[in-house]
This record gives sequence, structure tokens and C-alpha cells, in this order.
Amino acid sequence: MQTPHKEHLYKLLVIGDLGVGKTSIIKRYVHQNFSSHYRATIGVDFALKVLHWDPETVVRLQLWDIAGQERFGNMTRVYYREAMGAFIVFDVTRPATFEAVAKWKNDLDSKLTLPNGKPVSVVLLANKCDQGKDVLMNNGLKMDQFCKEHGFVGWFETSAKENINIDEASRCLVKHILANE
Ligand code: GDP
Ligand code: MG
Repeated sequence: MQTPHKEHLYKLLVIGDLGVGKTSIIKRYVHQNFSSHYRATIGVDFALKVLHWDPETVVRLQLWDIAGQERFGNMTRVYYREAMGAFIVFDVTRPATFEAVAKWKNDLDSKLTLPNGKPVSVVLLANKCDQGKDVLMNNGLKMDQFCKEHGFVGWFETSAKENINIDEASRCLVKHILANE
């Protein structure tokens, strides 16, 4: 068996308004479970996900979860520092959380750029798509346009509850990060 010869460690941020499902998405992705009773974490949590990207490449994702601070709608530079990518999450059942997306993106871009000066790759997650209250998503074109205008590399309807599209969204983000290096 050949041993992998490329190893990457990426810090990824998961940001967005309170209650949109950031912690749930990380739990689902890393621990394959879901609970409807998460306590709001205090401070910053980390979770590690290891991807065997291809036969020669291992990608380690260090996912940074925030808790508490998201109610202020912005984060400190220290938190953003050296991140290589991010997910910005909103809740499809709560339009106000979508309205906050551009604000999160601006906060990120104003405090963080890659060593090469480019903005970091960000994927937009329309979470809780299992709820059937999809007020925003029935217009894929509009979302594509929104992503283009705001500099997202892609968007996915996700459900942490039903495990929909989380792996796909992560692969999309990692693909863009690898392409940027
Ligand atoms: P955070 O504040 O962004 O970290 O949000 P949480 O992960 O704590 O989730 C807030 C609430 O939404 C919790 O009650 C979760 O169980 C629920 N939740 C999170 N993701 C989903 C989802 O995909 N579908 C549904 N139906 N509920 C979800
Ligand atoms: Mg949380």
C-alpha cells in the first residue's frame, strides 16, 4: 500500500447567526449524529475531520465553532486568523438569518485574507431544508446570482438533521481551497 505523500491542515470557520445550526452541522459532519438539545457552547470549540481526498492526499479540517459571540454579528481578527475557508450558515425558515449573511461575509473579508492576498473561499449553507418551509430557496437562479455578487464559491441546501449535502458542501469548499494553493 502506498502511503499518502500530501498532507494539508486547514482551519475552517463556521459562522452565521445564532440558532441557524452551526454546531449541529459540525456534529453531523464530524461525529455523525444530531440532537435537538444542544446547549449553546461558550467560547470556541474545535472539531477535526480527516478526509482521504485522493490516494495521495490527506486533508485535515479543523472546524471552528463559535458560541455566544455570534449574537454580536461579528468576530475578532484573532478568531479569523489563518483560516483557509469558511461556511456561512443561515436558516431557511428564518429570513432574518439570510439577511445577516452579507454582513457575515463582509466581516470575514474585512478581517481575513489569504497569504496571497486573495479572499478566502466561502460556501453558503441554507440549513434546515428538511423543514419544508423553504421561503428563499425556490429560486435557484437568485441564489446563484447572490453568491456571484457576494463572492461565495457555491451554495448548498443542507440539513444537519437529515444529513443532506454536508459532505458535498465540504468537498466543494476543500476543492476550492486546494485550487487556490
Ligand atoms: P447554532 O447556534 O448555529 O450553533 O445552532 P444549533 O446547532 O445549536 O441549532 C439550533 C437549533 O436548530 C437546535 O435545536 C437544532 O437541533 C436545530 N437544527 C439544527 N440544524 C437543523 C436542521 O438541519 N434541521 C432541523 N429541523 N433543525 C436543525
Ligand atoms: Mg452553536
